[in-house]
Amino acid sequence: MKTRKLGRTRQPIPAIGLGTMGIGGYSTKDASKDDEAVNLLRKGIDLGMTFIDTAEGYGAGHSEEVVGRAIRGFRNQVVIATKFSPENSTFHEVLGAARRSMERLGVDCIDLYQAHWPNPRVPIQETIKALSRLVQEGAVRYVGLSNCSVREMKLAESCLPRDSLVSMQQEYSLLERTVELQSLPFCRHRGYTLIAYSPLAQGMIGGEDRRGTGLSEMARHYGVTVAQLVLRWLTHDECVTVIPKASNLAHMEENSAASDFSISKRDYDRIAELYKMDIRRIPTDLIRVADDAGRSVYRSLKEAIENRYHIVPSPVELSEQILAGEMLKPIKVRQVNDPSGRDSYQLIDGRTRYWAWVIAHEGQQPIPAIVQ
Ligand code: NAP
Repeated sequence: MKTRKLGRTRQPIPAIGLGTMGIGGYSTKDASKDDEAVNLLRKGIDLGMTFIDTAEGYGAGHSEEVVGRAIRGFRNQVVIATKFSPENSTFHEVLGAARRSMERLGVDCIDLYQAHWPNPRVPIQETIKALSRLVQEGAVRYVGLSNCSVREMKLAESCLPRDSLVSMQQEYSLLERTVELQSLPFCRHRGYTLIAYSPLAQGMIGGEDRRGTGLSEMARHYGVTVAQLVLRWLTHDECVTVIPKASNLAHMEENSAASDFSISKRDYDRIAELYKMDIRRIPTDLIRVADDAGRSVYRSLKEAIENRYHIVPSPVELSEQILAGEMLKPIKVRQVNDPSGRDSYQLIDGRTRYWAWVIAHEGQQPIPAIVQ
């Protein structure tokens, strides 16, 4: 396993770590596969994936409990990263959330404590003050931000004890390369680790090359799988660590070996070209917002403005950020057949961003989107 340093510290981390979203449940606790998950995580640690990313929000905290069980007896071999939810961003809430995470993980110190999402209702300085306190008390070794802007990273940098800010966690896969515009160059320049989440595009890329782009052929040439080729491509940059999630042994083993080969410059560039981001601007009224996979989705502008699911940041808050010039990721849509013959799309990622854009531009501006 190739390793790298966490931010500008001396702490080594593997190029390929372990994601845990879904382990222990998604938005609610699911303990039905705990034993299996503990064994699998231990296998991953054995294989060198000693950087584990979890969150208080995964499985309503149960993911941390499963991780805690898996690392019992191996605490010194792993770097544990967890996150507090945006609802817990005030000074006292951050302190309380950290204490509860430590209890669930069974540790007396969190290696990397990350803000899962910025909360526009709480000044970031207040959140950072709590993180500084945790660092000073020794409850947290390092701090990271997730789903944040470069501006927020710079603010955090100026408020935290020297070198305790180490990472930015962002979505990064061949199908979502927005980070290459600002976050990645920033991390490279400042020496931060870019923790790439959903590196296999939540399974949309990995098992097979659905676009028929020649990725499978290239993978065969290297004697690896498409998932391994993709993970290797992403970790080509020394500041990137990927955290794929695997719930079966074959995937876990495959992922652990994805840093053990090199891609030629020619093939690296070819992959970059094949998966160049094709961002289109699509009128918002051509996009259907369906209730996919039972997630909480607003179906109308009125519902989005009311925000009855208490999403943080809310569509209205996010629309204010859009109007202030904040760069958001493009939404993802799939083209669908419309009997009328009009172009028509179904929203597959970016529920809050979609409504925020509609609110910000009163439905009059086409939205940046990736068609998958
Ligand atoms: P992902 O890792 O891109 O994709 C996971 C999917 O890929 C699963 O369906 C998995 O299948 C499949 N897979 C794994 N290894 C494979 C392989 N070798 N070949 C083929 N398919 C493979 O998606 P993710 O879970 O969204 O992201 C990873 C981690 O990032 C999360 O677990 C979480 O820790 C973190 N994350 C953070 C945020 C954030 O807001 N900060 C958001 C999302 C995710 P099996 O399960 O069947 O093995």
